[in-house]
Amino acid sequence: MSYSIAIDGPAGAGKSTIAKRIAKEKGFLYVDTGAMYRAMALYLLRSGVGPEDMEEIGLKCKEADITIRYEKGGQVVLLNGEDVNGLIRTEEVGRMASQSSGHPAVRRKLVELQQRLAESADVVMDGRDIGTCVLPGADVKVYLTAGSRVRAQRRYDELTARGETCDLDRIEQGIMERDRRDMEREISPLRQAPDAVLIDTSYMDIDEVVRAVIALTEQGPRGF
Ligand code: C5P
Repeated sequence: MSYSIAIDGPAGAGKSTIAKRIAKEKGFLYVDTGAMYRAMALYLLRSGVGPEDMEEIGLKCKEADITIRYEKGGQVVLLNGEDVNGLIRTEEVGRMASQSSGHPAVRRKLVELQQRLAESADVVMDGRDIGTCVLPGADVKVYLTAGSRVRAQRRYDELTARGETCDLDRIEQGIMERDRRDMEREISPLRQAPDAVLIDTSYMDIDEVVRAVIALTEQGPRGF
């Protein structure tokens, strides 16, 4: 049976950075589920669907075929066969993903794909509902979080390093808004699974967090 590590938490907690490092160290597949919701959001935006139009989202999402390919150890998301990795990291797509991910039809479709991937390989999967819904039997579950100001500051540093001008308060507001939507939605809200280990990364560096998660994989009945 394949081994799985589930990492959930709010936006900007460092999930993908940590998950990628662990996947590399362990030789597992890294599955970025947020990228799948973003690819779906891109399709909906291109189709001209409004973020509040739940009926249209339910209909249109059926036309989007989202698949994953691995190239040089990295995940490539394909939307109806097109590599959309370079198009899904914008604020606009993120906002749409945060809205459309609340639709049951969108979730059903993507959760199925995620579960299939986890059956076929050892995975480190990050998202919002991995430990609670997608892989309730995951071998290790982590809930990664950090204060909203810390998360906003990390995002701010990332953007300014890329030469973009941005406003820290606005970034923090956006993060809090996304958290609220993810935590308050009816289906699969962002929650810490009862058996997940909480790691607050506010005052930890990446290496410390990676070591803490690796230590968890070494414990338990299937530890190695
Ligand atoms: O993690 P990322 O910011 O890329 O995710 C984009 C959006 O997709 C999130 O704001 C969230 O609403 C949604 N998402 C989700 N369930 C997941 C992963 C992401 O609802 N497992």
